[in-house]
Amino acid sequence: MRRPLVAGNWKMHGTRASVAELIKGLRQLALPAGVEVAVLPPCLYLQQVVHELHGKSIAVGAQNCSVEPMQGALTGEVAASQLHDAECVFVLVGHSERRMVLGETDQQVARKFEAAQSCGLQPILCVGETLQEREAGETLLVVSRQLGAVIEELGVGAFARAVVAYEPVWAIGTGLTATPQQAQEVHAAIRAQVAAENAEVARGLRVLYGGSVKAANAVELFGMSDIDGGLIGGASLNADEFGAICRAAGN
Ligand code: PEP
Repeated sequence: MRRPLVAGNWKMHGTRASVAELIKGLRQLALPAGVEVAVLPPCLYLQQVVHELHGKSIAVGAQNCSVEPMQGALTGEVAASQLHDAECVFVLVGHSERRMVLGETDQQVARKFEAAQSCGLQPILCVGETLQEREAGETLLVVSRQLGAVIEELGVGAFARAVVAYEPVWAIGTGLTATPQQAQEVHAAIRAQVAAENAEVARGLRVLYGGSVKAANAVELFGMSDIDGGLIGGASLNADEFGAICRAAGN
């Protein structure tokens, strides 16, 4: 039985004051016991969030880490070992905004995945197709390539301590959501690709859906058999909305 995970990706949003306000709201939420909940603030606010969420069962994670696992001479980067030191549990790798805007490659993403795991963090590997790729019928091909790059580099066993997030690029921040059936098709393909190498790892692997998830569409999405929770962007900046999404994952 996979425990659902709902993770809030705050992206590059927040100030000390707005973060404090959001945490105040999160602290007041009644969260379902069967759901693991995490927030992923900008790096700058990690310490504040860890401190202010103390005692609340919400894990903290980061949105990116360096390809180099350990601290050293790499200006502007943050090492997975430093994130671990800051009490992070999760780290996103390969978010489409980083792949597309910053040109991160599958190989770099695989190195970040490895760096995260080597420091005791759980990577959340983001995969997903663009609208153009979907319209060209390449969705499963693209997702399989992104997932395969990590499997090839690290072996499928690495997914025993990781999470995958399927996020169609065309659904991120656009208000467009994949239908539950569209999402389920891709989630099932992700699990099948892992199962082809290790059925047990595939059975335990949590595959999250991300892309304009809101309280209003979460129940239907999370009701699909291979959707094990969500990666939530915009809606995670509103504590009540995020709480409602977490409760939907507990249904
Ligand atoms: C995301 O950025 O991971 C995301 C899913 O964003 P949104 O929910 O705003 O589409």
